[in-house]
Amino acid sequence: MDVVTLGTGSPIPDPNRGGSAILVRAAGVTVLVDCGRAVVMRLAEAGVIPPMLDRVLLTHLHSDHITDLNDVITTRWVMSPVELPLPVTGPPGTAGVVERTVAMLDHDVQYRLDHHADLTWQPTCDTTEVTDGVAWEAEGIRVVAAPTDHKPVHPTVGYRIEAEDKVVALAGDTIPCEGLDRLCAGADVYVQTVVRPDLVRAVPSPRFQDILDYHSSCDDAGRTAARAGVKTLVLTHPVPPPAPGTEDEWVAQAATEFDGEIVLAHDLWSITL
Ligand SMILES: [Zn+2]
Ligand SMILES: [Zn+2]
Repeated sequence: MDVVTLGTGSPIPDPNRGGSAILVRAAGVTVLVDCGRAVVMRLAEAGVIPPMLDRVLLTHLHSDHITDLNDVITTRWVMSPVELPLPVTGPPGTAGVVERTVAMLDHDVQYRLDHHADLTWQPTCDTTEVTDGVAWEAEGIRVVAAPTDHKPVHPTVGYRIEAEDKVVALAGDTIPCEGLDRLCAGADVYVQTVVRPDLVRAVPSPRFQDILDYHSSCDDAGRTAARAGVKTLVLTHPVPPPAPGTEDEWVAQAATEFDGEIVLAHDLWSITL
């Protein structure tokens, strides 16, 4: 199993960090989790083009996790020699977002249909919505969803991907909760989006302070990792973007609660299990 943090940024623009997106390759299957800013560029850097994706999993419908879904859909459609619907799984609301995203592309779709004689089908997605339980199963791989807690953003889910006797838990944006504990139980790798309350509180903006009540801090992530007995904790989507040279501080905060391996991910960081 191969896990790549394609994009490790947040809504705050950062030239070094694309939006949230994680690639998991296992059992001959390629899965993309979330479709943040620049996801198609980072996929290409990882050697993947959208027609190679077997499934897109969405943790929630916040813009920083779905803003380039349209690029994945368009590029998959226009690069594929055959009709290739994109399987998309996400929390309730996903079907509507996917439908409206495809609808937004109608001018582009018509231009290309009119121009290319061999392109005779529209881009389509097979969308399923999940809240709890098995989200998808194929030979040698099982994806389990569980509800997370990112309220007032609701419903949201995280995923647990089991394949090749390995487990990776992909939390998305959430505070510690029972569903997250289930996803992480005994995982080899647990990927958690995090914020730094000490740094966020120093920014005199009420809107910025609001993010503290629905994200895990580094020590929250460390506590979840310790409770679940995971091997490696991967911190991603750090808010605010870490100043160069301060990466160790993020790891140190999580390490107050968890004594396993801890990594602050950068774009295209990867681990092979
Ligand atoms: Zn979010
Ligand atoms: Zn986010």
